[in-house]
Amino acid sequence: MRNYLGSCHCGAVKFTITADVRELTTCDCSICARKNALMTKVSERELHITEGEEFLTLYQWNTGRAKHYFCSRCGIYTFHRKRAAPDHFGVNVYCLEGFDPSLVPTRKTAGASMSVVGAEAREEWVGPRDEGV
Ligand SMILES: [Zn+2]
Repeated sequence: MRNYLGSCHCGAVKFTITADVRELTTCDCSICARKNALMTKVSERELHITEGEEFLTLYQWNTGRAKHYFCSRCGIYTFHRKRAAPDHFGVNVYCLEGFDPSLVPTRKTAGASMSVVGAEAREEWVGPRDEGV
């Protein structure tokens, strides 16, 4: 296990992950595509917000299960609580200090095909009707 320091661009939000980063993922869902996100998955026990939790803003959409966090000051996506594995976070690896993404294999995930627009989603948030995931 290695310890990585993470931060948003302005430095208001700081966090650590303690994990072996063996795989990175991209995702083709409509939000990850817009963020051009390159992520690694860690369990909630492996991620700690060390500073600036109050600067984090939560964005939720569609089923409302995934929780997408970003810094309210600089707008940088730091991590999100995953929809399919809510006890895990996807972490923006470009926020990690001294981490070289070229040394770790990247897998493409097909988030767009996870799209579920159902009655259960509407209880939480109606959301845009034709958006993915
Ligand atoms: Zn920031």
